[in-house]
Amino acid sequence: MNTEQFYPLFLQAAHVVIDSRKIEKNDIFFAFSGENFNAATLAEQAIDRGALAVIVEQQAYENIEKNIFYVPSTLEFLQELAIYHRNKLQIPVIGLTGSNGKTTTKEIIHAVLSEKFNVQYTRGNLNNHIGVPLTILSIKPEHEMAVIEMGANHQKEIKFLCTISLPDFGYITNFGKAHLEGFGGVEGVIKGKSELYDYLKYNRKTIVVNENDPIQVEKTKDYSPKITFGNTASNYQFELFSEQHFVGLKYNDQKAVSKLTGEYNFTNLCAAASLGLHFGIDFKNIIRAIENYTPTNMRSQIVEKGNKTLVLDTYNANPSSMAASIRNFVTFRGSKTIIIGDMLELGDESEKEHRSILELAHELAFDEIITVGKIFKSVNHSPLSFEDTNALTEYLKVNKIPSKNILLKGSRGIALEKAIDFI
Ligand code: ATP
Ligand code: MG
Repeated sequence: MNTEQFYPLFLQAAHVVIDSRKIEKNDIFFAFSGENFNAATLAEQAIDRGALAVIVEQQAYENIEKNIFYVPSTLEFLQELAIYHRNKLQIPVIGLTGSNGKTTTKEIIHAVLSEKFNVQYTRGNLNNHIGVPLTILSIKPEHEMAVIEMGANHQKEIKFLCTISLPDFGYITNFGKAHLEGFGGVEGVIKGKSELYDYLKYNRKTIVVNENDPIQVEKTKDYSPKITFGNTASNYQFELFSEQHFVGLKYNDQKAVSKLTGEYNFTNLCAAASLGLHFGIDFKNIIRAIENYTPTNMRSQIVEKGNKTLVLDTYNANPSSMAASIRNFVTFRGSKTIIIGDMLELGDESEKEHRSILELAHELAFDEIITVGKIFKSVNHSPLSFEDTNALTEYLKVNKIPSKNILLKGSRGIALEKAIDFI
């Protein structure tokens, strides 16, 4: 089976799925070999449940009459089919990468552009070598645009994902200290993320540039086409303001207040507003999109619980987003406790980075500093240093946090959100 032969069948399918539990009528099921995987049974079951076709990696299970097709690698076939589909699409595709803020920016861009267009976009955080092809394959004839999040933790990954998404517009949210281990330090991060610029430049596609970021400016100088924001000479000029910890942007005296906290979200909003204006969306509609977007995804989310204000940023953490998050939290009025979890995947820099976050936290003089995780435990010898979130919840069952405001921020693996119910 090759992609060209298979494509007409794909066009009739409802969705492409890789999780057998999610198969619905008319879906195409890609059977990835798992550990306890019985492709033969799964494939038959999928067809019985109404799947239009099944792709398997075991030649013996091929059954053309039943639309069960063999390919040497399901993953490669998924990627090839996505490339084939992408090449047929005539719509603008916006590609996003960066160390922090990709998902948030993607969601806001989607909200803004949806004011005028039918926009397909990456669901959740499906931003890797499987998620990007799945997102591309979810683009239907009725879609007029797509926003694709691309994540990476090592070199050449963004380059590869660009060969699938073929972005017409691209934006790098920032170059920060994330996945330092895989990238080989900050220089490695810049190089790895810039693969998006390399692709866009080579193909003369449009780069969205935050001109307040010296690295972005340097990497895109003398290049066009560009859409710029961030300083007084940029295409679009926005002013930052905030209302009760919610970040907003002002454009020609019109204000949009988001439901996001953290000044770092200002650039995320600017990128989305710039793209909106570029595509001819009225600022009034951009305001509506920004004001209606409510984060529910543990990213820069504010939750009122009883008389406490919780800032949930438990989706992930690395040194740059951790520093940004706690600096933002300092501006909250009233007493403040921070609960910070380990920042994972930092390699050799790990202990040093945890120590400097702890120093920053002490400098900023919070009422209480609670740390969670083994790495913090090795550098923080206070009684409020817990080995994991379970240890923290045991503590919270008998001790109340006195502060009015509480920040929770840590890596995904620490799952700090499990403590919320006990606060
Ligand atoms: P992932 O690598 O998990 O896909 P991501 O890049 O999609 O992460 P988000 O999930 O949008 O990032 O945001 C994660 C956290 O990063 C936010 O909750 C916030 O603390 C921080 N953050 C968001 N935007 C920025 C930004 N522009 N600069 C620095 N930090 C940011
Ligand atoms: Mg993300």
